[in-house]
Amino acid sequence: MVPVIALVGRPNVGKSTLFNRLTRSRDALVANFPGLTRDRKYGQAEYNGYNFIVIDTGGITGDEQGIDAKMAQQSLQAIEEADVVLFLVDARAGVTTGDEAMAHHLRKIEKPVYLVVNKTDGIDADSYAADFYSLSLGDCYQIAAAHGRGVSGLVETILDPL
Ligand code: GDP
Ligand code: MG
Repeated sequence: MVPVIALVGRPNVGKSTLFNRLTRSRDALVANFPGLTRDRKYGQAEYNGYNFIVIDTGGITGDEQGIDAKMAQQSLQAIEEADVVLFLVDARAGVTTGDEAMAHHLRKIEKPVYLVVNKTDGIDADSYAADFYSLSLGDCYQIAAAHGRGVSGLVETILDPL
């Protein structure tokens, strides 16, 4: 079975940028997956010798009430379908209440979740690493999806154990 990776996180953290980098496509494959909805985008990726499916999600809007509302239904679906979840946060924004709500949910799921800090280009790790550690999801993986920094290392880290 080809592993399935879900990209979740609030809007604007860089999920689609990472999706496009992994699938190397602007309009990646959007068909032939059961349960497909317009809200989730499925792409076939071949990256660094690894083959996998990646799911992009629209994320949460941030102004709903309650954890269920904050986790948009499609993000929950993507998490359900995935073997591994990448939880993206934004190094420049720091931890937001939306991040905290999502982390609360992700700490309870039974599959591997990786905390991925994006947009680390031009920023000193000391300025955000401790902040994200407070999400209690372990160490964070630092990337810059727009430039590719850290992406192959991340892919290796998440897919090697599978
Ligand atoms: P999404 O809403 O989570 O899918 O986020 P997008 O992928 O649409 O990205 C939101 C914004 O962040 C866009 O303007 C991207 O160009 C920008 N962005 C994404 N990745 C990076 C990065 O690694 N560094 C910087 N500086 N900006 C980024
Ligand atoms: Mg997006």
